[in-house]
Amino acid sequence: MTLFDTSLGEFSGEILRPHDPEYEEARRVWNGAIDRRPAFIARCRTAQDVSIAVRFGVRHGVPIAVRGGGHSMPGHSTCEGGLVIDLSPMKGVRVEGSRAVVEPGVLWRELDAATQAAGRAIPGGEISNTGVAGLTLGGGIGWLSRQYGLSCDNLLAAELVTADGSILEVDENRHPELLWGLRGGGGNFGVVTRFTFRLNAIPMPLFGGMVIYPLEEARPALRAYLKVAADAPDALGLNAALLTAPPAPFIPESMQGTTVVALAAGYTGPLHEGIELTKPLRTVANPIADLFGPMPYTVLQSMVDAGAPPGLACYARSEWLGPLDDGVIDALITAAVEITSPLSQVLLRVMGGAIARVPEDATAFRFRSAQAMLTLIAGWPDPTDPGDQHRDWARTAWERFRPWSAGGTYINHMSADETDRIREAYGDSTWTRLVDLKRQFDPDNVFQLNQNIPPTG
Ligand SMILES: Cc1cc2nc3c(=O)[nH]c(=O)nc-3n(C[C@H](O)[C@H](O)[C@H](O)COP(=O)(O)OP(=O)(O)OC[C@H]3O[C@@H](n4cnc5c(N)ncnc54)[C@H](O)[C@@H]3O)c2cc1C
Repeated sequence: MTLFDTSLGEFSGEILRPHDPEYEEARRVWNGAIDRRPAFIARCRTAQDVSIAVRFGVRHGVPIAVRGGGHSMPGHSTCEGGLVIDLSPMKGVRVEGSRAVVEPGVLWRELDAATQAAGRAIPGGEISNTGVAGLTLGGGIGWLSRQYGLSCDNLLAAELVTADGSILEVDENRHPELLWGLRGGGGNFGVVTRFTFRLNAIPMPLFGGMVIYPLEEARPALRAYLKVAADAPDALGLNAALLTAPPAPFIPESMQGTTVVALAAGYTGPLHEGIELTKPLRTVANPIADLFGPMPYTVLQSMVDAGAPPGLACYARSEWLGPLDDGVIDALITAAVEITSPLSQVLLRVMGGAIARVPEDATAFRFRSAQAMLTLIAGWPDPTDPGDQHRDWARTAWERFRPWSAGGTYINHMSADETDRIREAYGDSTWTRLVDLKRQFDPDNVFQLNQNIPPTG
């Protein structure tokens, strides 16, 4: 097999092979536990490059992985011995009035910086170095989602390279069913080489931050959190975390390394309202730290980055949860008490608002009416450690939340050992529609290194 067949067209990007000096760095993905060695890394610059790479992979029958930001926890954006279509050189962002046109190698921090300069934002994830591409295609939940919907709800159009190398324009008029599928159906239908998003107004600064309490205060703190959540206006985004206090300057030395509960929020209404709305979170007890204040959106968006460094070995379990009560609080606290690694975390993110107002059949994303997203992230520093006890912790803790399950998990947080849950994550009617779409645009399942929707159903 040669590199790229010249008969396929002129490839303007770069091909890395295992002997190339940049290969070692380039093959790494965010999750340090994923250690795979693709035969080719095709660093693409244009949609035409992507088309050539796809046709090359199909012609030679090699597995094809597609990489945006590289944050897939099960490592779907790399493969052993196959071809990685690496979109990281495609970094263009254009803000055009109420729209942003974004290339697929862009990370949220890059997009947020560009849109914030225009007083606008697109709901994105809460760690700033996650890729726009994968996060949007699987749904995309973040601080602004209760006000402006999921990332995929803000996707207006896309350019897509399909399994036969065609380059399609997808929007409400051209291939509307594909647009529906790209809003939550993941990377199953092709490689998105351009996203067009709706932009939303954000104040500068907004009111946000987090308050941290010792674990002994977790019960009243989480009760206050759920009470605030129940009455919250759409403009209030909320997340709670139980974790080990890091050796950060804002944590007193005596509390570093202890288990704590952090209540975090971001409010996109007037500052004085944000202060009032978050008061019940900040006055539960004497906090270890109170980091609330006026801040730019980009600061809120990167506030917890330090908790998810690239290279961390990681395994996650998640579940959409239905009505929340004290039993959920007990399960959260038990999970925190039993944590096996200081780099593991328990997260409870509040849904509702604009997310719930989108009709369930309007996009491929399910679970519009779930009240919260539970995520159990097992993290450990040594990627050569298989991390069995940390994975077991996540699975055991997750089992305890089953009574509150809204019926499934989140495509973007699924682990490799949960592939039997993909259909459930979509529900029967959405699944049938997605399978039809897959049959039409990828009948040979070229794009199967993802949360796969097989053309056979
Ligand atoms: C630290 C961390 C924090 C996270 N925080 C959040 C959060 O706040 N909210 C949230 O909703 N999710 C969050 N996630 C989950 C995240 O949404 C998924 O991991 C997502 O897949 C990451 O996208 P990516 O482009 O970085 O990943 P990649 O690993 O590059 O890709 C992930 C998947 O998307 C496909 N894909 C990527 N680019 C394209 C493309 N251009 N066209 C077609 N398919 C493509 C790939 O094939 C792969 O299956 C987080 C994950 C991590 C690791």
